[in-house]
Amino acid sequence: MTALLQLDDLHVFYGASQALDGVSLQVDEGQAVALMGRNGMGKTTTISTALRMLPLRKGRVVFAGQDISTLPSFRAARLGMGLVPEGRRCFPNLTVHENLIAAARSGYWDLGRVQQLFPRLQERADQYAVSLSGGEQQMLAIGRALMTNPRLLILDEATEGLAPVIRREIWSAITRLRSEGLSILLVDKTLSEILPFADACVILDRGRVVWQGAPDGLTADLQHTYLGV
Ligand code: ATP
Repeated sequence: MTALLQLDDLHVFYGASQALDGVSLQVDEGQAVALMGRNGMGKTTTISTALRMLPLRKGRVVFAGQDISTLPSFRAARLGMGLVPEGRRCFPNLTVHENLIAAARSGYWDLGRVQQLFPRLQERADQYAVSLSGGEQQMLAIGRALMTNPRLLILDEATEGLAPVIRREIWSAITRLRSEGLSILLVDKTLSEILPFADACVILDRGRVVWQGAPDGLTADLQHTYLGV
């Protein structure tokens, strides 16, 4: 399989404090990779580095065969990385419809397809984003990322803090995207949802990759040591 995203030996600092200490991982074309680990272990930093939002002290980011280690983030995103950020940032004073249109780039995903994936976004088309529930805002954030027609969808804690019924709806949409062949990198903590979904899991602990492999290799011991399960 060909690598779509390849992170090699990432070393990243916030001021004097080191957040990533040699992180390497790969997402192949059509693969779903879960980035796991307890709070503060470097998951969001890894994603932000892949998206070129943080400077690299050492290491390399390669996307679709192109070394983007020194590319500014707006250009990196245009190459086809669609981020659903932690905290589901949408434009609060635009309607659902306007939020989606503002993100649009031509391709397979358009308004109709996004609304088919999340019918609630069609029902709420003329409502301001600020008036949506948390779950609906998350659907909108995913819809916005899809409207950019990404080659890689990156989800940071997509279902955290949401009610079970909404979580199920979002997981079922993400699973559908995966089965349609979209490459996905996601940060999440819920093993019961990740294990049947991911092709590969990567565990971070204090800025280092301490384990990676297929989900069925995630033993109770590993879960206890690194995920606090
Ligand atoms: P969480 O699950 O809580 O989101 P995480 O695994 O995504 O955690 P990061 O947010 O990547 O972890 O944080 C990694 C380390 O870098 C932590 O020690 C954190 O305190 C630190 N850190 C993150 N953002 C900043 C920042 N803007 N300035 C300084 N330190 C930061």
